Amino acid sequence: MTKPYAFKIKRMKFQLSILLKKYCLIFLTFIFFISNTLVFSKNSIETDTTVVERYGQLRVEGNKIVDKNSNPVSLRGMCLFWSQWMGRFYNYDCVEWLKDDWMCTVVRASMGIESGGYLQNPTIEKNKITAVIDACIDLGIYVIVDWHDHNAHNHQQEAIDFFTEIAEQYGEYPNLIYEIYNEPTQVSWTNVIKPYAEAVVDSIRAIDPDNIIIVGTSTWSQDVDIASQSPLEFDNIAYALHFYAATHKQSLRNKASTALNNGIALFVSEFGTCESTGDGPIDYTEVESWMNFMETNKISWCNWSIADKVETSAALMPGVSSNGGWSESDLTESGSLIRDKIIFFNDTTNTGIGDLRELPKNFKLYQNYPNPFNPITTIEYELQNNGQVILDVLDLNGRKIKTLKRGFETKGNYKVSWDGSSDKGIKVSSGVYFYRLFFENKNNYKKAILLN
Ligand code: MG
Repeated sequence: MTKPYAFKIKRMKFQLSILLKKYCLIFLTFIFFISNTLVFSKNSIETDTTVVERYGQLRVEGNKIVDKNSNPVSLRGMCLFWSQWMGRFYNYDCVEWLKDDWMCTVVRASMGIESGGYLQNPTIEKNKITAVIDACIDLGIYVIVDWHDHNAHNHQQEAIDFFTEIAEQYGEYPNLIYEIYNEPTQVSWTNVIKPYAEAVVDSIRAIDPDNIIIVGTSTWSQDVDIASQSPLEFDNIAYALHFYAATHKQSLRNKASTALNNGIALFVSEFGTCESTGDGPIDYTEVESWMNFMETNKISWCNWSIADKVETSAALMPGVSSNGGWSESDLTESGSLIRDKIIFFNDTTNTGIGDLRELPKNFKLYQNYPNPFNPITTIEYELQNNGQVILDVLDLNGRKIKTLKRGFETKGNYKVSWDGSSDKGIKVSSGVYFYRLFFENKNNYKKAILLN
């Protein structure tokens, strides 16, 4: 009697274990599916918001840099200072801050070659550059790998070896932009720079067929008109145009226009707000003229430089942190001006001028009323938290016209008036303006139209 009963129990146990295994398998499959779906959707959300995801592989088409959909693109960002002297800023946190707080879509890693740079310490300097490239790839922004040299034609083999390594390591990433000769001095385009560029570009193209290569031009990358008369016969080449606003003015813009008319693409991979020494006063009028020129012609730009050296062109005050997190008082006059410009052109929820559109979550900025207005209008906004607020009025070029609010405010709704007729006793002219609310490291903009 016991034997069949025991057999029955054994059989039931066996069936139960099969059933358990089956449901276990179904359960695990379900968990696997759900977790993958979550990871996938998280990745999609994250990658969709990066500028490299949006623009993809850049190309040169005629005299423009275009994105994967053939739309002209303007990248705007910062140059890191010579790597051998400001290597402390060549790190992930600094690049992340430049992306998140400054809204840079490109960072230029300027690898010093002479004067204790790559020629003397190749591994040390290369490691600084790859740290920045890795950060830019991870953060989804573009990176310029710049051979920061005034005599690159004397270091052709070293440049070939270096760019071969970089192309092998990173040539498949759309993030990468090569810059093979920062600023040739007064040497011949035809006899010196062009043969060097052909050799280096040839070696890069043997590995990486497509990423953009920026080529420097004679007279510290100003003679783009000369290069345009005899351009390189490779695809996806842009030419470096460098200026310092207090030194180089309309005559250099004329040379740039000639080059564009001759059909080459330009990239302002370096410019300063001051004199060509990197010092002297900021020329605000010329900075505006250059901004107009670059935006009108869809020329990408990087400002010189992320450094805490005591000179006008340095964006940071002496002794600031190496890892970003800079407050307004950590920025120099030039740093503050340029950060404003980058944010204005890159972060355009409403202006439609720039390219990044990420709506801030912790505050709302409402359309002013009346709009159009004359001369007084009301601006309303709502804060979800307590914090520091800055409400500015800007003109079409991102120039600050007036600060309407600045300081700590508690969570709630606010109303501010702007009187366009009595701004510091000066009558503001009719036209389109933007008002910008800055809160918790995010900006939002709205357009306001003043009719006098
Ligand atoms: Mg490639």
